[in-house]
Amino acid sequence: MPSLERYVYSFGPGRADGSAAMRDVLGGKGAGLAEMANLGLPVPPGFTISAKLCIRYLEEGILPDDLREEAHRHLKQLEQAAGKKLGDAKNPLLVSVRSGAAVSMPGMMETILNLGLNDETVQGLIAGSENPRFAYDSYRRFVQMYGDVVFDLGKAPFEEVLAAVKQRRKVKRDIDLPAEDLAALVEEFKAIIQAKASVTFPDDPIEQLWGAIEAVFKSWRTRRAADYRRVHSIPDDMGTAVNVVAMVYGNMGDDCGTGVAFTRDTRTGEAVLNGDFLTNAQGEDVVSGARTPEPLAKLKRGRLAKVYRELERIAHKLERHFKDVQDIEFTFEHGKLYMLQTRRAQRTGLAAVRSAVEMVDEGLISPEEAVQRVPPQDLDQLLHPMVDPRAAVTVIAKGLPASPGAATGEVIFDADEAEALAKKGRAIILVRPETSPDDFHGIVAAKAVLTARGGMTSHAAVVARGMGKTCVVGATALDVDPQAGRFRANGRVVKRGQVITVDGTSGRVILGEAKLVLPKVGTQYAKLMMWADGRRRLRVRANADTPQDARRAREFGAEGIGLCRTEHMFFEGERINAMREMIVAPDESGRRRALAKLLPMQRADFEGIFDAMAGFPVTIRLLDPPLHEFLPHTNEEIAALAKAMQTPVPKLKRLVASLVEANPMLGHRGCRLGITYPEITEMQARAIFLAACKVAGRGRKVIVEVMIPLVAHVEELRRQADIVRRVAQEVFHEEGRAVPYLVGTMIELPRAALTADELARLAEFFSFGTNDLTQTTFGLSRDDAGRFLPLYVESGILDDDPFQVLDQEGVGKLIEMAVRLGRGVRPDLKVGICGEHGGEPSSVKFCHRVGMNYVSCSPFRVSIARLAAAQAALEEQGVINRTKATV
Ligand code: ADP
Ligand code: MG
Ligand code: MG
Repeated sequence: MPSLERYVYSFGPGRADGSAAMRDVLGGKGAGLAEMANLGLPVPPGFTISAKLCIRYLEEGILPDDLREEAHRHLKQLEQAAGKKLGDAKNPLLVSVRSGAAVSMPGMMETILNLGLNDETVQGLIAGSENPRFAYDSYRRFVQMYGDVVFDLGKAPFEEVLAAVKQRRKVKRDIDLPAEDLAALVEEFKAIIQAKASVTFPDDPIEQLWGAIEAVFKSWRTRRAADYRRVHSIPDDMGTAVNVVAMVYGNMGDDCGTGVAFTRDTRTGEAVLNGDFLTNAQGEDVVSGARTPEPLAKLKRGRLAKVYRELERIAHKLERHFKDVQDIEFTFEHGKLYMLQTRRAQRTGLAAVRSAVEMVDEGLISPEEAVQRVPPQDLDQLLHPMVDPRAAVTVIAKGLPASPGAATGEVIFDADEAEALAKKGRAIILVRPETSPDDFHGIVAAKAVLTARGGMTSHAAVVARGMGKTCVVGATALDVDPQAGRFRANGRVVKRGQVITVDGTSGRVILGEAKLVLPKVGTQYAKLMMWADGRRRLRVRANADTPQDARRAREFGAEGIGLCRTEHMFFEGERINAMREMIVAPDESGRRRALAKLLPMQRADFEGIFDAMAGFPVTIRLLDPPLHEFLPHTNEEIAALAKAMQTPVPKLKRLVASLVEANPMLGHRGCRLGITYPEITEMQARAIFLAACKVAGRGRKVIVEVMIPLVAHVEELRRQADIVRRVAQEVFHEEGRAVPYLVGTMIELPRAALTADELARLAEFFSFGTNDLTQTTFGLSRDDAGRFLPLYVESGILDDDPFQVLDQEGVGKLIEMAVRLGRGVRPDLKVGICGEHGGEPSSVKFCHRVGMNYVSCSPFRVSIARLAAAQAALEEQGVINRTKATV
């Protein structure tokens, strides 16, 4: 039965069957080509086979019957538009067969150029171009790519032979090889295919075409493509489209060439057209790093100035049309420019902020669009360290500053090794002559990437930039020898394992460890955050345990503290001893003695925090962790404590042993401590209110929220809240002043969520402790999850680690229900979140949707949460995220 589904969409100058809106079907590349054609830009004619077929083909192993017929109809159309025919001996049409998914995965899948060549058609190409070198260069590239992609032989066997020929001829670049050599290479490459794959290279262009189409579909499932999707959370079932495009030739002479351009600087965001190009070359040459390309600015002057002006005009038009920074691929043939691709440019966080804000200033987009355009996570990069400008450093080489930031680590030359060592927690700098997509997992694992060859648009540069990873490319002074495990640079030798620092902001390669400092963020950032703050409903607080943390939190724009963990205060210096005394004290009076020592320390800390947060709420959580976390472990520690407490060592040892729990995470912790030892709660409440009165006495505004942890039953909350309220009254009476305060509970056990209505009768606020709530909902311990959780994510059981990204379907359901039950009883119930999730963009958006009042996260993530909260509010108002809709 013929299918009603359409598989193939044509495009050509001035017209296209599809458009930018059809990314799901056409993929990003196909959609971009169609849109450019519709805009009347010079695009070679071609057609796109639907991405919807990809997964079906991969699962069933065959293409639908009616696809061939439909594709051949579009091929006829293409031949007409090009005025050439596939397989024609006199005037052959050559095509490229190119992958392209809905979400850009640069260089991760396959492309084959110059398809349609055989011993007969190559003669037609020679006759037409009067350029045998060009014709055989195209032919040998075609056979090489076909062998690599369709017969899965990789690049190496062909490159080795090519390198040998160049050496024999004593030439550096393949364009310097004469036609005879290139013709001989074609034969040699075919022989390699015959020997290694046991197949004869297909002469029939139609057979070539279908072989290439199937191979492009299959390239969706290569390891590097799968790795890339995992890192970027791209679904595996999306599939790639296949684009068949008439070839235009950049390798026909010195007035021909190919390049990549960005409409703005993707490192800094500055509005300047920039990029790389090569004359007498084909596309792969620029991005592969095989030849070091020229900066686009060079095209501006001299013979090819006309090409530059045309490119500038088109770049401008594309940016105005898509209203976003574009990453453009182009080729020029005898001075005539063709556009081969346009897509949304990957950029650093810095560039994302600057370009978005400047586009608002230019009237291209609205502030709302700017707010929605910057991925919140990318703000993290603005906080990346840089090499201290005042530090004295030994620079051993300089390359191109491909992706900013700075990192120090051990030099490693192999991607697998980098991955293995990074798993052990080592800081790695991946050093390569150049990177290929096969190095992807090594780039992920490394702190920074350094290559000897390649331009700003080389593979390493693009991939690293997309991940916000420090990267320097084209450090030409480097002579990298991965086999020997060393590189040379300006007379120095650096061996595998030696430490270097890579400065992706300046391009410097520095010997040893350099001092790193945090950069100052610019005015565009302030503007963007102002727009974001004006549009969000969620308040953003920080988790902070010390006065220093609290001050930093304010600098990042935190509007209060959502979680102040009191136990952290007890680990410092002398305090741990008093804490230990309290824990092992045999009776209440012993505990009270020790608590009396702790009280002034705790009060002083609270004072500092209230001072730093004057005018903003501070949520203080009462003692939470299993007591044994504080216990002495080594013999010296036990001996010291025994002496301080004037207790015999064996007795102390018995006491310590008696506190060991089988399952501390579910043991004697949280409010259970305050229930068994009410004097702890009393001391903490006293310290809190004394500090609050003191600070209020200095004329500052103090807003206190006391939070009871790990509540499962309303009776636990009642007893603890009673103590807190009683102590508050006592202190207010003694001090002769009162401060406003709330008593609330953490919701971090499923039973608390299920009985949230009962809790809300007593609790004036809820704070979701999503770390524990995730742990107890899944019934898995965070401390042991490392053994299996990564596999769960890798194998797709879970989309994400639920401790990083809130599990909205499961844990989220409990949260939603608890908010509803709580507000049903107490409509003005204040609700927030204080787990790790409070700084993770998708989780922050969830918190907005369920109607929380605030999120609280680590100070460094406050800006991320502010931006995510604004995006959530805009999404709710239905302001369309145009970034996602553009190519
Ligand atoms: P990728 O997805 O890795 O960018 P492409 O399909 O864009 O792969 O192909 C890589 C390069 O091959 C392009 O940048 C371009 O220079 C060259 N190329 C692709 N198709 C053509 C064509 N029809 N004519 C000339 N060059 C082409
Ligand atoms: Mg491309
Ligand atoms: Mg907890």
